[in-house]
Amino acid sequence: MVNYDTVLIRFGELSTKGKNRKDFIRKLFDNIRYMLRDYPDLKFQKTHDRIYIRLNGADPGEIREKLGKVFGISSFSFTEKINSDLEEIQNTCLRIAQESDAKTFKMITRRHDKTFPLNSDGINRACAGVILKNTDLKVDVHDPDLAIQVEVQKENTYITSEKIPGLGGYPAGINGKCLLLLSGGIDSPVAAFELMKRGIEVEAIHYASPPYTSDQAKQKVLDLASMVSVYQRQMKVHLIEFTDLQLEIYKAAGDPYAVTLMRRMMYRIAERVAREQGCIVIGTGESVGQVASQTLESIACINETISMPVLRPLVCMDKIEIIDLARKIGTYETSILPFEDCCTIFDPKNPVTKPNSEKAEAFEAKFDYETMIDTCVNTRTTLTVVPQENKELFL
Ligand code: ATP
Ligand code: MG
Repeated sequence: MVNYDTVLIRFGELSTKGKNRKDFIRKLFDNIRYMLRDYPDLKFQKTHDRIYIRLNGADPGEIREKLGKVFGISSFSFTEKINSDLEEIQNTCLRIAQESDAKTFKMITRRHDKTFPLNSDGINRACAGVILKNTDLKVDVHDPDLAIQVEVQKENTYITSEKIPGLGGYPAGINGKCLLLLSGGIDSPVAAFELMKRGIEVEAIHYASPPYTSDQAKQKVLDLASMVSVYQRQMKVHLIEFTDLQLEIYKAAGDPYAVTLMRRMMYRIAERVAREQGCIVIGTGESVGQVASQTLESIACINETISMPVLRPLVCMDKIEIIDLARKIGTYETSILPFEDCCTIFDPKNPVTKPNSEKAEAFEAKFDYETMIDTCVNTRTTLTVVPQENKELFL
């Protein structure tokens, strides 16, 4: 019987070399071990281009699910680990072929150990020969039912007939920190996922307007943060009490410019918190044209209030693509829960779609927003959330 006892993890052809490559592998190795920390019997090993995990009886289904949440893995396979001995390799390939119900097959060998007596092509031929002789399978190099993959290392060879795609991207936390504006909507949790995919550590800031927004709305944001925190162990969330500032904005600007001003304030507060927290950039779930505040003119008028770069990973995506991703990462159902948001509470009837900076500044000159921003920043609550399966939320 096929005995897949070792997971082989590939991290693809890294374009990064030297120290970056070493950092990548070390971080990935750490992140994988952390993700699988509840399985004490696993044995981990890393080489310059592979990571191996000896299962020692652990449930492959569970390990598969967990590895599917680690950024930096390009693909992985459950393999049979044998000695690097040609006869043993041939026999194992034959057994895999015999146990499958495939009609056609193909051999794919990678010889990492250049001292092995046969080269990759030679190993392919030697194994295919045995299979052709002892089974009814035929070779099909273009579209085989069964692709037997052989990786020959110095002492051991790993054989498998499957390849599971990983999440790709860069290992969590390898590329600096971003402060993401996290609402309770569909977009910003997806933006968190996309930023994390680039190895960026994400911290979140959320603006709530109690009593207009409820505790349930706040909890929903924390739940979303907790869901995406699984990709980076945990996530810091800064909660800002936005009510007083929002009420002043409405008094000063009236209906059309309220959202523009509100978002300018959000950006300013975010930049302050980001600097305090050592975040290098700000992130949002904005997507061009989605709503009045996301026209190019709006984005420009809002962006000019700060000097820190703003990353908008969803900027050119259609809503439908964003929803697909939200479903994939499991945040969609929570995002569509109907709790009020600080934007919807004061939802203006006629928001300006082409705001103008002079007007925005004139409205802002009517009140002392800087002191109010200070208060928002200084009275914030900061929580650290962890993945939901752990069910704990701690200060
Ligand atoms: P989302 O689904 O993320 O709420 P949206 O399409 O509803 O996005 P907006 O409400 O205009 O769009 O918000 C655009 C972006 O502004 C959000 O993706 C998020 O980054 C940020 N944002 C909006 N409201 C809040 C909030 N209350 N707290 C923190 N960030 C917010
Ligand atoms: Mg929103």
